[in-house]
Amino acid sequence: MTGLFGGAFDPPHNGHVALVDGALDHFALEGVVVIPTGSAPHKEISTPAEVRYRLAEAAFAGRERVELSRWELERGEPSYTVETTRWARERYGELIFLVGADQFAKLATWREPDEVLRLARLGVATRPGYDREELERVLGRLEDPGRVAFFEIAPTPVSSTEIRARSRHGEPLDDLVPPAVARLIEELRLYRDD
Ligand code: ATP
Repeated sequence: MTGLFGGAFDPPHNGHVALVDGALDHFALEGVVVIPTGSAPHKEISTPAEVRYRLAEAAFAGRERVELSRWELERGEPSYTVETTRWARERYGELIFLVGADQFAKLATWREPDEVLRLARLGVATRPGYDREELERVLGRLEDPGRVAFFEIAPTPVSSTEIRARSRHGEPLDDLVPPAVARLIEELRLYRDD
């Protein structure tokens, strides 16, 4: 089974890496395909896609079972999960789509969530601050909740929003992003106002 993990990765951080490592281990996956979004249907992203792709490469460098995909980047239009999953099903076979609990809580807003679940299982990493009851409510609205599996990862309470704010204020990124990502942010002077 292959994992799919999509995100803006603006920038990628240790929470993303923990999710991928946790899923590889928990589901004994053959691999995980990391898919940076080109433009997202629900989100304004100001950092160019090519830059976010480089950052994601840096974040996952050296992991044998992780590969990056340019599929969403090259489509030139916003990609919905259902479309990405349909493409990946053809290419990789049996799939598990990986998300954090915050994304899962918004499942009702996805395009064709039940079709996504027919095409792929869903692996949901529990993330600090999200209560189980809310997740159960989302499960209750699905045609086939048995396709959803939760897995615990060590809490990594960090978000891309926080990293961008820290960079803007010239604050250290400490252990919030992989060192190669911190170096690229510095080198490319990302998320600075100047
Ligand atoms: P932003 O702060 O810009 O909204 P983000 O940190 O939530 O970004 P995304 O690129 O939007 O990152 O998220 C991609 C995926 O990673 C989503 O499925 C999200 O749930 C998951 N994710 C993000 N942060 C964490 C974290 N700290 N721990 C576990 N999963 C996370």
